[in-house]
Amino acid sequence: MRRGFRRTRTRASAASRRGPRGVWTMAEQGLTPTFDTTFESAGPSQTHMALVQLERVGLLHFLVSQNVDGLHVRSGFPRDKLAELHGNMFVEECVRCRTQYVRDTVVGTMGLKATGRLCTQTKARGLRACRGELRDTILDWEDALPDRDLTLADEASRNADLSITLGTSLQIRPSGNLPLATKRRGGRLVIVNLQRTKHDRHADLLIHGDVDLVMTRLLGHLGLPVPVWGGPCVLDRALPPLPRPPAPKQKLKEEPKPQPQHNGSSPPSPKREWPDSPASQIPPKKVKKEEGSPS
Ligand SMILES: [Zn+2]
Repeated sequence: MRRGFRRTRTRASAASRRGPRGVWTMAEQGLTPTFDTTFESAGPSQTHMALVQLERVGLLHFLVSQNVDGLHVRSGFPRDKLAELHGNMFVEECVRCRTQYVRDTVVGTMGLKATGRLCTQTKARGLRACRGELRDTILDWEDALPDRDLTLADEASRNADLSITLGTSLQIRPSGNLPLATKRRGGRLVIVNLQRTKHDRHADLLIHGDVDLVMTRLLGHLGLPVPVWGGPCVLDRALPPLPRPPAPKQKLKEEPKPQPQHNGSSPPSPKREWPDSPASQIPPKKVKKEEGSPS
């Protein structure tokens, strides 16, 4: 059984991270990045919402993100199918029990520093709160990645029969090399990015284009609506998949292709059968609760 796998870095979040005032650009310059309300008022893009829909119908099995803007979580993408390799500016984690808290506002620090709050997680039977120190989850530029998320991302990449990279130059290691693991195991790779990427030559399908345009057209082709975002919502675990729409008829000869470039081999067939119940194979992230832990 194999899983599909997507990773994404949208234009908006790339700008928030690497632009002139991006958090990592500022960190490299020795400045302290400020996480202001622009992050809190930012909404998911069409690409974020398209990914939510693809997961709901069971076509997308795992999502790897390099973003720290928290938009995948706030869009309602299930956290047990999401690896955030560089952290999330809305999430703080207990150093003692590793419980994570998704906040409405940005946590406010960077580099795994204490946020000044304490863990309120109660152990079994609610006898006593953990009281461990909470720290932010954002890693400094080129720092090691969180083990848990990287392990899940690596496993998903190796087991995927299709990896789609969206809006990333694939230059950051090790995350940028994860899609190659899919190729090594016989899977296919689709790269969508405005500019050239480090791994263009490995792509089975290469689209130098706008990710929002490509994703909305993909959903249109599949007969799926792009969901409307109803405000921040956090989903810790994926819901049972909705019924899939019937496979679209292939009219590749008549249809204008959305991709301006093509790298030789045929595009992945929309008729492809995906395995069911992928969530059962992915160990869930530990969130907000330690199940079965002794008191
Ligand atoms: Zn704790």
